[in-house]
Amino acid sequence: MKGDFVLNKAHLSYWLRQLRKESDLIAPLRSVDGDIILSSVTGIHEIELDCPANIPSPKEFIFPQKEEMFKFSGKGVDALNNSRKRVIFGVRSCDMSAVALLDRFYGGLFEDSFYVKRRRNTVFISIVCNNPDPTCFCTGLGTGPYLKAGFDIQLTDLGDRYLVQVGSKEGQSLIKNFRHLFQMPQKLDYDDQYEANLSSQSKFEKRITLENVRQKILAGKVDDSFWESVALRCFECGGCVYECPLCTCFNVIDWKETPDKGVRMRLWDTCMFKGFTKMAGNILPAEKKIMRTKRWYFHKLLYYPEQFGKFGCVGCGRCTITCPGRIDMATIANKLD
Ligand code: SF4
Ligand code: SF4
Repeated sequence: MKGDFVLNKAHLSYWLRQLRKESDLIAPLRSVDGDIILSSVTGIHEIELDCPANIPSPKEFIFPQKEEMFKFSGKGVDALNNSRKRVIFGVRSCDMSAVALLDRFYGGLFEDSFYVKRRRNTVFISIVCNNPDPTCFCTGLGTGPYLKAGFDIQLTDLGDRYLVQVGSKEGQSLIKNFRHLFQMPQKLDYDDQYEANLSSQSKFEKRITLENVRQKILAGKVDDSFWESVALRCFECGGCVYECPLCTCFNVIDWKETPDKGVRMRLWDTCMFKGFTKMAGNILPAEKKIMRTKRWYFHKLLYYPEQFGKFGCVGCGRCTITCPGRIDMATIANKLD
């Protein structure tokens, strides 16, 4: 059951406190260093909704950087339990759009049981961004700041209240026991929502679309000298891949305590590293750095649209913040547009 409601801001902390009784509550919190980090909430009043690109992206909670898959020993294999229910609050629309694409990647043609299990236990409450960072560019990609679909619950800040849009049965499950907190919206609420969205749109400094870039590459108008100049600036730190809410590569290792006892784990990997997908005989499929940088951009700009009809970028701006070589997606798009 879907629908729209209004939640007075004075009721927000009570609602979240109740949700926390049944599930882990994850939200953006300020670390001692001042960073905004998505993590488990102990004090509801500590939640920070002012930072668009929190780290890590929500990907960490459905496809963790380091995940134990199962334990093994001479006696057999023990599956590890990752069935804890979680509510992730305060996620931005761009990240919600990324989750929708991850769902198609890991839950589509090939179903990744580890991802699917975590995802089934996770419900997102996303929020329409009204204070984008200068690095954000979701507007040009249609991945934010306001979503028409693809969310569990979406909140729009209307000053003293939120417009609450329920977009899935998982979202519905978060409000069904607390209906007394939620009012039916009036025309004024929708008018205010419209204004809030217009105001949010006007705050974006970057107006980037990727379609021109894609067309240019497809037409063969971007030669290797361009990608050579990009590769020259890459330190191969992997930061862009690790921070990107859409990068999905991983490696699997056996961590052995004794020769026949240990844990099988999967860890994020990055296609920016020389040894990525190294084969027997020391064969490196993308030995030169230019091949690896080009592959990352081609994957997001050409192969994602081919496979999913969407770019492999939601404009979150994390690679702009992260890359020490200043060769992030927005910079590349601006150079090629
Ligand atoms: S490519 Fe960069 S801007 Fe695009 S989703 Fe990934 S980290 Fe965000
Ligand atoms: S963050 Fe920049 S320097 Fe690091 S791997 Fe990515 S492109 Fe290269």
